[in-house]
Amino acid sequence: MTDIQQLLREDLRGRTPYGAPQLDVPVALNTNENSYAVPPAVVDDIVAAVAAVAHGLNRYPDREFTDLRGDLAAYLTGSGTAVGPEQVWAGNGSNEVLLHLLQAFGGQGRTALGFTPAYSMHPIIAATTGTTWVDGLRGVDPDSGGGGGAFDLSVASAVAQVEQADPHVIFLCSPNNPTGTALTLDIVAAVHDAAPRAVVVVDEAYAEFARPGTPSALTLLEGRPRLVVTRTMSKAFAFAGGRLGYLAADPDLVDALRLVRMPYHLSTPTQAIARAALRHSDTMLATVDVVKAQRDRIVATLTGLGLDPVPSDANFVLFGGLRDSRTTWQALLDEGVLVRDVGIAHYLRVTAGTPEETTAFLDAVAALGPDHLEGQS
Ligand code: PMP
Repeated sequence: MTDIQQLLREDLRGRTPYGAPQLDVPVALNTNENSYAVPPAVVDDIVAAVAAVAHGLNRYPDREFTDLRGDLAAYLTGSGTAVGPEQVWAGNGSNEVLLHLLQAFGGQGRTALGFTPAYSMHPIIAATTGTTWVDGLRGVDPDSGGGGGAFDLSVASAVAQVEQADPHVIFLCSPNNPTGTALTLDIVAAVHDAAPRAVVVVDEAYAEFARPGTPSALTLLEGRPRLVVTRTMSKAFAFAGGRLGYLAADPDLVDALRLVRMPYHLSTPTQAIARAALRHSDTMLATVDVVKAQRDRIVATLTGLGLDPVPSDANFVLFGGLRDSRTTWQALLDEGVLVRDVGIAHYLRVTAGTPEETTAFLDAVAALGPDHLEGQS
């Protein structure tokens, strides 16, 4: 029998694929989706949009997704920073957009740096493109000899690590998954300036959930042709199943991505349903405030229960103070609540869902015995 591992590319042997469990549970709070279903009026428009394009499915889609680009640019512009259609790129989820970036600017003999813990797919996508991954660290400040929160990233630390690695691609995740906190723009600007040959990617998948006064890196794009801001319709927009992610950057950088994408990568139905959803932006985003309130409730309640939640600008909360993440993950699952073990000892991550889902999660945590808490016997 052929051993597939022997046939596989050497650098992929023994690796594990992305694998957030997809379990059928009453309360699924493990992949940072928006728990609210697409409202009926939007569903009607989506169905009509698919019907309108169905007869033309014998033809390939618009390779340049021109109309969708225009709509995405208008959406970003409406959220406060003027962005033109020529500055927009899109893919089947922002994961594909990240893949295009690494295909174009990473690859064999090149390095990408991210600050761990951050989004687990950044190193995985780097690996698939043969890009060498450099694990930058948070919570260390070489100048002050430490200090700050365990997951904080200071300007000095970020710049020192970037200068040492001199990477070709840098990932900044803001708000950061899995820790939840947004970066200040001075870190983005300093990292950009410290890495003259790098494409700097700010992954803003959760931007719409940020606390007031948290500006987007979109405001830094002007005059920085190596800076990229990625976004997605999967989170605040409640459209994870639609698979539409996008980015904003300099038109020349956007143009370069056409070299690596598969022709016609965005299907006609994908373009049509994304445009239909964007026509209802206000409705699709109406749940953001409700979700943010649940996030803040999670932080407050877990603190009261003696746990250690990390302040969050996203639709999820990372919380520490657990004796053993895996044991508590299983105990919550036994109560029908699925959260995420992100591989950080003593921590778990929970998505802020509906008020009812949040109550189910908080009740399940409150019912945990003291032996689940760190430092208890
Ligand atoms: N970036 C971050 C930080 C994420 O957490 C996720 C999804 N978990 C993505 C990108 C990718 O999401 P999608 O492909 O659905 O846009």
